[in-house]
Amino acid sequence: MIEKYQLNENSKVKHTIAVMSGKGGVGKSSVTSLLAVALMEQGMKVGIMDADITGPSIPKVFGLSGKRARGTEELIFPVETAKGIKVMSINLLIENDEDPVVWRGPVLSGIIKRFYSEVAWGELDVLLIDMPPGTGDVPLTVMQSVPVDGIVVISSPQDLVGLIVKKSINMANMLHTPILGLIENMAYLDCPDCGSQHHVFGKSKVPEVAAQHNLPVIASLPIDPKLAELSDEGKVELYGKINYTFGENFGSKVENMMAELKKKPVILPTF
Ligand code: ADP
Repeated sequence: MIEKYQLNENSKVKHTIAVMSGKGGVGKSSVTSLLAVALMEQGMKVGIMDADITGPSIPKVFGLSGKRARGTEELIFPVETAKGIKVMSINLLIENDEDPVVWRGPVLSGIIKRFYSEVAWGELDVLLIDMPPGTGDVPLTVMQSVPVDGIVVISSPQDLVGLIVKKSINMANMLHTPILGLIENMAYLDCPDCGSQHHVFGKSKVPEVAAQHNLPVIASLPIDPKLAELSDEGKVELYGKINYTFGENFGSKVENMMAELKKKPVILPTF
């Protein structure tokens, strides 16, 4: 019997969205952060559960490196970003955030349970779960034990060539978790000199894969060194302000995504 995790009585979450990718390095954590900022800027209360336990990067991009989460015997309190996004990550709990996490699958799954059930998330409109890449133990635990009401799959153009994205899509389908759509990251480069778009990784296969699975492409994001730079500096929250066009466009796409999510029938967890 698969255990279903429950929130504590201090927490109420309206929507839980898991962010997946076929493999690492495609910008899953960056896009999770941008999604969180876009949702927050629409007036929602947002939390990020960093389920990428062996490669946590959420605290760093929000400038929370070195911060520690406080706790009581029963609860762990998330750390808030400058703009009030609540974050829980293993790097906010371990002594030295450069220490590797070398735990095996069952321990990792235990952490997911604690992050979901013991963190005082409070009232959230959206809890985003930054999944580890691939289709291993942790994504399986999240999909089976947490009431996820939508999945967003992040891919880069070259990622699709290897059919890896299809594995994530097929996993979600097997576990009957609805997919909200795909976000293509690093899709093109806006040339600062000639003004045209360069498709550095070749012609995108995202629309094709999305159509095959009857899924929408939520957004296509360019390669932007400014995003990498701000993330490195822990200032990802400022990206939409610096790149105003991005902030506007992405924000409206995220708004559409949420409108679609709200149309879907609510799947009540069977506890
Ligand atoms: P993942 O979570 O998939 O492993 P990350 O979000 O950590 O990937 O991104 C990997 C690296 O690529 C980071 O250094 C990040 O700043 C950079 N990056 C992600 N998306 C973009 C983008 N659209 N443009 C430029 N750099 C990006």
